[in-house]
Amino acid sequence: MYIAQQSPLIQTPWYPYRNVMVVRGDLLHPVVSGNKLFKLEPMLSMARNQNIPGVISVGGRYSNHLHALAFAAKSSGLKSVGLVSGYEQQELTPTLTDCKRWGMSLHFLSREQFQQRNQDDFWPVWLQDYPNYLHVNEGGWSEQSIGGSSQWWQGIPVNTEVVVVAVGSGTTLAGLLLSAPEHVHIIGVPAYKDPDDYSELRAKLKSLGIQEHRYRLWQGYAGPKFGKASAEQQDFADDFYRMHRVRLDPVYTSKAFYALSQELSTDAQLRRQNVAILHTGGLQGLRR
Ligand SMILES: *Cc1c(COP(=O)(O)O)cnc(C)c1O
Repeated sequence: MYIAQQSPLIQTPWYPYRNVMVVRGDLLHPVVSGNKLFKLEPMLSMARNQNIPGVISVGGRYSNHLHALAFAAKSSGLKSVGLVSGYEQQELTPTLTDCKRWGMSLHFLSREQFQQRNQDDFWPVWLQDYPNYLHVNEGGWSEQSIGGSSQWWQGIPVNTEVVVVAVGSGTTLAGLLLSAPEHVHIIGVPAYKDPDDYSELRAKLKSLGIQEHRYRLWQGYAGPKFGKASAEQQDFADDFYRMHRVRLDPVYTSKAFYALSQELSTDAQLRRQNVAILHTGGLQGLRR
């Protein structure tokens, strides 16, 4: 494949806990880090087999998803189009500079246009300009990406009882759940707030036949908003780097790792279980 994994999934212990392992998705590939590699590789490989000319997707100005998609598409010989929430006149972020360098055509959407991205009439209009392109959902939610996410098990220690993972679209969570050994409990940490108790996420999981007792969501760790960590989460990430030399990103992993540290401090049972937390990558977004 064209975006082959460059390194096996290794683990780093989280001191001082003896029961927690960090599964280092951030080290899988120098560009397409973490879960984006597992999600995009099977989807783009399918697109190539079907002679699809390119891919089109949507994201923010620091989007890990568009960044990984642009690189992966280029590596796979596919064209790519990114619809970005923002204005043409704004200075390009390092994320978008990379996307452009890798050949992604960028179109900027106003806040109102961006909010319509999940409506039925949004994509047909863009697909008129880019006929036969594959529309890749934000976050990659698709059968291929969900299937690809089962690859995390390569790097999860066999004695693991609890797996903790950050949640955006829930694609990674779904893939883990569908391929999890029966006795392993999976916990998702949403990186965005949802006043509706994450009912949409739960419904998506249910549509795949995943029952609610199979997983738990640690709510209340979404920080001030999507893309922004709280001061506590930021301090935690700085300390974590000082202690372990492992960087955490502000959008997802600072929130998930902070959540686990909080839960460990209050839950004695959790301290007795073998826990694996997935480092899903995203460090490109730290550049400002
Ligand atoms: C995209 C991303 C996620 C979210 O993954 P989903 O499969 O969409 O839930 C988590 N962590 C990082 C670092 C990401 O870039």
